[in-house]
Amino acid sequence: MHVDFEKSDFADFATDVCIIGGGVAGITMARRLLKAGRTVTLLESGGLDYEADSADLNAGENVGEPYYELHHSRLRFFGGTTAIWGGA
Ligand SMILES: Cc1cc2nc3c(=O)[nH]c(=O)nc-3n(C[C@H](O)[C@H](O)[C@H](O)COP(=O)(O)OP(=O)(O)OC[C@H]3O[C@@H](n4cnc5c(N)ncnc54)[C@H](O)[C@@H]3O)c2cc1C
Repeated sequence: MHVDFEKSDFADFATDVCIIGGGVAGITMARRLLKAGRTVTLLESGGLDYEADSADLNAGENVGEPYYELHHSRLRFFGGTTAIWGGA
């Protein structure tokens, strides 16, 4: 079931586990936990596709190993960064 929490009441929602982030890691964990009989909330900050307001939350400065710009290399919507996978 897909629920838009901007239009819903948080108080009505209770599950065994809440996973923050609907990228490949979160979705994989959710599927495993559901298979094990748990109830799961997969809490995703973005929508079902690119939205500028959500994407802006990923802006930042990388101070570690050289990498792509942070707001280009991390996607803020359901599925996360899989949307720009190179196919490996
Ligand atoms: C250009 C590029 C190409 C790539 N190609 C490949 C490839 O071909 N094969 C491969 O295996 N890997 C590839 N990778 C690496 C791969 O994308 C990442 O390792 C992988 O997507 C990380 O998954 P994740 O679920 O941890 O994070 P993400 O995919 O970044 O997902 C995180 C999710 O959490 C959400 N989120 C973030 N903050 C919050 C919050 N506060 N509250 C709620 N939700 C939040 C985001 O919206 C997002 O949906 C590539 C990466 C890049 C940049």
